[in-house]
Amino acid sequence: MKVNFETERLIIRPLVPDDAEAAFRWCGDPNVNTYMIYPLYHRAEDVRTWLESRDADDPDNYDEGICLKSTGELIGSGGMRYAPERNAWEIGYNLRADQWGHGYTGEYLTALLDVIRKDRPVEAIDGIFAAENSKSRRVMEKLGMVYIRDTSFSKLDGSQTFPAKYYRRNLPQPAEHCGVCERIEMTRNGSNPYFVKELETGYVVIGDHQRFEGYTLLLCKEHATELSQLAPDFRTAFLRDMAMTAEAVERAFRPNKVNYELLGAGKGRHMHWHIFPRRNGDTPKSGPVWQVQDMNDDRYLPSAEKLEELKSALGKELDLLCK
Ligand SMILES: [Zn+2]
Repeated sequence: MKVNFETERLIIRPLVPDDAEAAFRWCGDPNVNTYMIYPLYHRAEDVRTWLESRDADDPDNYDEGICLKSTGELIGSGGMRYAPERNAWEIGYNLRADQWGHGYTGEYLTALLDVIRKDRPVEAIDGIFAAENSKSRRVMEKLGMVYIRDTSFSKLDGSQTFPAKYYRRNLPQPAEHCGVCERIEMTRNGSNPYFVKELETGYVVIGDHQRFEGYTLLLCKEHATELSQLAPDFRTAFLRDMAMTAEAVERAFRPNKVNYELLGAGKGRHMHWHIFPRRNGDTPKSGPVWQVQDMNDDRYLPSAEKLEELKSALGKELDLLCK
């Protein structure tokens, strides 16, 4: 499938036959080829033959060129290919040896996953790599994949067989009836009156009921139930966004204490942070807010004016913290 996009440091674009010389720098490098199933190329013309023969429009195969933004140079290729027998997208790539160790592959594949997910449901990504290839293990871990089992693979010409590891990540699936996804959809199309600010990993909204004034939520952009389902970088960013949201609540509403709770009940089990500003004596007994039975009573719905006041106070602090 031909796609074009950019990441922080890379330009991703379809490969063309004229890339043969540049691609020969890795296709013809025995170092890069060590753990690859295909044979080593000995002439750039053979790389051209391969580039001319491949089906770049195959909707089940995203196999693109990886270029450095800084120089425009093509430094590798690869991507994800749909494997129907496992209902998973298998990752594969080659990178010129002098470009190893900069995290380019992880950066590319993380972005590619988002690109594919816009068009296709992706239930899982997986990959097999030689047990002794620690560089590939790091790429898979970066993508949030985890060890499933030992396996092995052989080169296409049968010359070598490697003990290997099978890694996989199951991705959270959109639920058909998820209240949180519905709210996010409303936020995206501009019809959620409670929306305050979009952060990298979620949406900050004022709680519907304001029994605890300043009650705020952070809705995770991923329809995921547990933190363990998130890719490591996204999970770290999600926790950072939560801390920032809570700090904004603290500054905007001056409580005695902030309560943080990551819940995800309901049909969709879509996790979201509840951030409650707490004030001395705000519940009949000391303890969590949930002891209050009438928290969702209509009398705690804010007036339009009050809602604007809360949103503006919180939004101002978030803007300052985001700088
Ligand atoms: Zn959801």
